[in-house]
Amino acid sequence: MAGEPQDDCLFCKIVAGQVPATVVRETATTFAFRDINPQAPTHVLVVPKAHHRDVAALATAAPELVGDVLREIGEIAAEEKLDSYRTVFNTGTGAGQTVFHVHAHLLGGRGLEWPPG
Ligand code: AMP
Ligand code: ZN
Repeated sequence: MAGEPQDDCLFCKIVAGQVPATVVRETATTFAFRDINPQAPTHVLVVPKAHHRDVAALATAAPELVGDVLREIGEIAAEEKLDSYRTVFNTGTGAGQTVFHVHAHLLGGRGLEWPPG
């Protein structure tokens, strides 16, 4: 069920401490950790602790959590002293989503091209 932990979900396991991760910040509703395959000097993933498959599903089921995730992006960017950074929610396999527990990518610490690939 949406919001409940999923046995087969990598990010639910990271939130539960069952899979190790380099934790950056944690709140009552969110969890932030470093991407295992960083694409920039700062590459942090921010997830709601609740399991939802993508950002649109999250916004429908629990809109307050979208705000919680985005507030954390700002807090982490400030902690990492980033004045320019990118926030990405890949949605669907064609856009590169590989883990179906919604996550924001925070990318920064280098110049970022636009448009993205
Ligand atoms: P996406 O492709 O948008 O679904 O993003 C999934 C991200 O999770 C990728 O950038 C992966 O490098 C990252 N990732 C996969 N496994 C782990 C892990 N065990 N710890 C941290 N990041 C991971
Ligand atoms: Zn999950």
